[in-house]
Amino acid sequence: MASEKEAALAATPSDSPTIFDKIINKEIPSTVVYEDDQVLAFRDISPQAPTHILIIPKVKDGLTGLSKAEERHCEILGRLLYTAKLIAKQEGLDDGFRIVINDGPKGCQSVYHIHVHLLGGRQMTWPAG
Ligand code: AMP
Repeated sequence: MASEKEAALAATPSDSPTIFDKIINKEIPSTVVYEDDQVLAFRDISPQAPTHILIIPKVKDGLTGLSKAEERHCEILGRLLYTAKLIAKQEGLDDGFRIVINDGPKGCQSVYHIHVHLLGGRQMTWPAG
């Protein structure tokens, strides 16, 4: 598989179904760590830290990325972040963690279904690459 940057540059920003729809519909396997009626969270297939989890809305509703957010999305956006906090606790990330939302080609987004990355289990550095 190409690097994340190559994958991001090759991805076409669109509202078409993505691989995450297949994960939501259980058409392809994933390691689910949290699920409720609105949100699904599963382990990233290419982890960048000992804990690397993706948190997504089950219904995309046009939210391909954060740059497409409308006021109606405020509740689900808050829920994604709150879920990240719950999962961080569940994963024992008591000393800290990082939340990332990539947006668009320059933000290194490769899947156009909004998702929150939860990274932890190692010391992070700054600035992010
Ligand atoms: P982004 O680059 O922010 O769009 O993040 C997309 C993420 O989805 C990357 O970190 C990929 O490793 C991850 N990913 C892609 N396909 C899968 C999959 N089938 N299962 C789990 N994670 C995936």
